[in-house]
Amino acid sequence: MIRTGIGYDSHRFVEGRPLILGGVTIPFHLGLAGHSDADAVAHALTDALLGGAGLGDIGSHFPDTDDQWKDADSMLLLASAVKLVRQSGWTPSSCDVTIIAEAPKLLPHVAQIKSNCATALGITAADVGMKGKTNEGMGFIGRGEGIAVIAVATLTALS
Ligand code: MG
Repeated sequence: MIRTGIGYDSHRFVEGRPLILGGVTIPFHLGLAGHSDADAVAHALTDALLGGAGLGDIGSHFPDTDDQWKDADSMLLLASAVKLVRQSGWTPSSCDVTIIAEAPKLLPHVAQIKSNCATALGITAADVGMKGKTNEGMGFIGRGEGIAVIAVATLTALS
């Protein structure tokens, strides 16, 4: 048995915050606004996993009204989501992620982001797709106001 989940997340660029994607701090003059560390890769993947397992979404498990998650390391939230998925009888077998940002260039960081996500999901880096692209100058992403991430996760039944 196989199930698939999709996740989407977006965050606004602001000054005075780090830019963290997939647990990697990327050198840039802007970071992402958010209650947690605003790691949009971790958030989109978390939603993909929870969605695939029929477990709701990131906000229902880690509400942004809860001080416990203030500035939280979202890769830990992702690892918690993996635990929930496994407790419900599923396990991640692969994922595919697209990061959409006009800047900075993501390619130099993709291997590390991929490796971090593989570790969190308990799969190999070969089973993680990780791609960066721009929005061709269009819309909020094109204007450099923020970034968006789309993730798909495939889950396999544990038994
Ligand atoms: Mg988010």
